[in-house]
Amino acid sequence: MDHIVLKSYGKINLGLDVLRRRPDGYHEVKMIMQMVGLYDTLTMEKTQENQVSMNCNLSFLPTDEKNLVYRAAALMKEKYQIQTGVKIVLKKRIPVAAGMAGGSSDCAAALKGMNQLFDLGLSKEELCDIGVTLGADVPYCIWGGTALAEGIGEKLTRIDPMPGCYILIAKPGISVSTAFVYKNLKLDQLERHPDIDGMIECLKQKDLKGICSRLENVLETVTIPEYPIIQKVKEHLMKHEAMGALMSGSGPTIFGIFSNQKTAKQALESLRSMKDVKQAYVVEPIQ
Ligand code: ATP
Repeated sequence: MDHIVLKSYGKINLGLDVLRRRPDGYHEVKMIMQMVGLYDTLTMEKTQENQVSMNCNLSFLPTDEKNLVYRAAALMKEKYQIQTGVKIVLKKRIPVAAGMAGGSSDCAAALKGMNQLFDLGLSKEELCDIGVTLGADVPYCIWGGTALAEGIGEKLTRIDPMPGCYILIAKPGISVSTAFVYKNLKLDQLERHPDIDGMIECLKQKDLKGICSRLENVLETVTIPEYPIIQKVKEHLMKHEAMGALMSGSGPTIFGIFSNQKTAKQALESLRSMKDVKQAYVVEPIQ
């Protein structure tokens, strides 16, 4: 095999809780991760030059070691003493710096791709051990599907898949820095925490209504006062018959859940009136 094409899917958080700030600056989290059908494409090709090279359809993204894809391939090349090179073409669709773990998912795909392309025979666990050195969400992106993520996001437990539904993803045209959000989170002033255990039970029962009534993300306490557009989009989705709506990760992407495809598409259409929403898609959960 000298050529491989991989899809790297984005995620949403059905629940996101932050438990404590560790002395090393990382945060302990408890999150429900759900992969969704919005994906980037990675094309990886073996080359005779002894180096990693990449290009990307988004000119503002780095294509050197600042890109997680490049870093993943270079790390694998060095670790397993691969003497030939690899050329990677990354086609981005997942909104960038948006709370959908796009970079982590691309990184996970690059690790899997190197494993297959160069016949390294690494297990999923071994890939996760390498992945966590590149980013806390990378192990989850290697797993995919529905999972409870604890620790700094790397301790994973498989949970029941999300029942069939339609998810409207809406990305306002603002950038939110993850570091800013965590830095400004007032953990001791949080009045409530998401019902993560209740969410796991609703997933088990395939209770979409119960899931939608438990959507909660403590990071909204930072982003919504700072960026009121996030609340406006949530309200817009609820007004257009979403069963629930929430910001994903550290934002600013918002998702709305619909049981019916037609209603989801009508809500998508209605977003055209919101000039501040720059990217929007209707997708389904991916297992
Ligand atoms: P998370 O949900 O894990 O917080 P995110 O959606 O907020 O992730 P990403 O889209 O993964 O953020 O990217 C954040 C930053 O990482 C970008 O500003 C970009 O410069 C850098 N980056 C490195 N590699 C990639 C990549 N392959 N795709 C997107 N961004 C990348």
